[in-house]
Amino acid sequence: GTKVDFLPSGERRLTVLSGPSGVGKSTVVAEIRRAHPEVWLSVSVTTRRPRPGEVNGLHYFFVDGAEFDRLVEAGELLEWAEFAGNRYGTPRAAVLDKLAAGVPTLLEIDLEGARQVRRTMPDALLVFLAPPSWEELEKRLRGRGTEPEDVIARRLEAGRIEMAAEKEFDLTLVNTDVEDVCHRLIALMTDPLGVTTTT
Ligand code: 5GP
Repeated sequence: GTKVDFLPSGERRLTVLSGPSGVGKSTVVAEIRRAHPEVWLSVSVTTRRPRPGEVNGLHYFFVDGAEFDRLVEAGELLEWAEFAGNRYGTPRAAVLDKLAAGVPTLLEIDLEGARQVRRTMPDALLVFLAPPSWEELEKRLRGRGTEPEDVIARRLEAGRIEMAAEKEFDLTLVNTDVEDVCHRLIALMTDPLGVTTTT
C-alpha cells in the first residue's frame, strides 16, 4: 500500500478496474462516464457486435477479426484477451499519451488483461471489484434462471476461479453501492493519499 498516483517523473499512474464476470464493472464505468469527466476512460477495440445503444468510438471501437489481427501484429495493443468468443484489447498509444499528460486514466478490462498489464506496466494500480458476497455473485451468474443447468454450473465454476484472482490485485473495492465504489475509485485516482484512505 505505498503506491501514489504520480510517478517521480510527473506521469500519472495507470489504474485498472477488473473483477469477475457479472460483478458490475460496466455499471461502475457508466457512472464514472456520467459523473466524472475528469477521468479518461480507455476505449477498447473489440470484435464483438455492438449491442443496442452502444456507440462506436465511445463504448468500443468495433472492428472485424482482420483489423484486430493487424493491431496485434503492429504492437498497437497494450493488452488483449479473448472473452466469450470475442477479442478485446486496449489501444496502447492513447493510454500512454494520457498518462504522460497527467490525466487520471482508467481501464476496465477482464482478469487476463489485468494480468498482462501487471507484467508490462508494473507501476499500474490494479483494483479488484468484488461482489458483496459469493451468494450475490452466484445469484447474478445464475441470471434469470432460463439457462440450462450445465451452463449455470460452468458459469459458477468460472466465477469461483475468477474470485481467486483477487490476491493478485493491489486492492479490493466491494461493490455494495455503485456511487460508493465510484467515490472510492476516484479518490484513489486523484488523491495522492487515496490508497491509504480506502482501507
Ligand atoms: P462486454 O462484451 O460485456 O462489453 O465485455 C466483456 C468483458 O470484456 C468484460 O469483462 C470487460 O471487462 C472485458 N473487456 C472490455 N474491454 C477489454 C479490453 O480492452 N481488454 C480486456 N482484456 N478485456 C476487456
